[in-house]
Amino acid sequence: MTGELIGLLGFGDARRMGLEFLPRRLEGVFCLEVRWAGNLPLPVRAYRRFQGQYLAFAFLEALEGFPGPYRRILGVTEVDLYVPGLNFVFGLARQGGRCCVVSVARLRPAFYGLPHDEVVFRSRVVKEAVHELGHTFCLSHCPNPQCVMHFSNCLADTDRKSEGFCPKCRRALDECLLGQL
Ligand SMILES: [Zn+2]
Ligand SMILES: [Zn+2]
Repeated sequence: MTGELIGLLGFGDARRMGLEFLPRRLEGVFCLEVRWAGNLPLPVRAYRRFQGQYLAFAFLEALEGFPGPYRRILGVTEVDLYVPGLNFVFGLARQGGRCCVVSVARLRPAFYGLPHDEVVFRSRVVKEAVHELGHTFCLSHCPNPQCVMHFSNCLADTDRKSEGFCPKCRRALDECLLGQL
C-alpha cells in the first residue's frame, strides 16, 4: 500500500446498498487503501421521469468537487443511469480523471425477476467498479472478452469477463499506479 486512498461515496444511503464487501475487494486489485467517504444526495435535476433514469454525467460532476485526500473517487448508486445514445450504462468514468460512478440497479438478479444470488451480485459489482476505476487510471476498452476492461454492452458481457486485467492492461495499470496520474 502506498498510503494513498480511493474514496467510496454513496448517492443516497450507501449502507442500504449492501456493498460492505467492496473496499476489501478493490484494495486487492489496486493496492491502494479504499475507504467509505460518506454519502451525497441524488442529483435530482438529472432525473428523467419518463425513463425513470438519471443522467450519469451529473454524478461525475457531483463527485468532481468532493474534497478530501482521495487519489480517486468511486460513486455508487441504486438508481438506473443512462447517457444520451445508450439506453442505460452500468457505470461511467472520465478517462484519466479523478471520478467514476457505478449503478448497482441492473447488477441485481432481482432486476430481471430472478432470485437473489449474493455471489453473482458481488462479482458484478466488483467487475463494474474495477472497470470504471480502470478508466480513471487511463485504461481504454480491451478487445479481450475475459479482461475486466472489455466493454459490457449487456449483463452477459459482464458475467463472461473476469474480475481481473489481462496482462497488457495490468501492465498499463501498474505503470499508471506507480506514476503521478
Ligand atoms: Zn468502459
Ligand atoms: Zn485487457
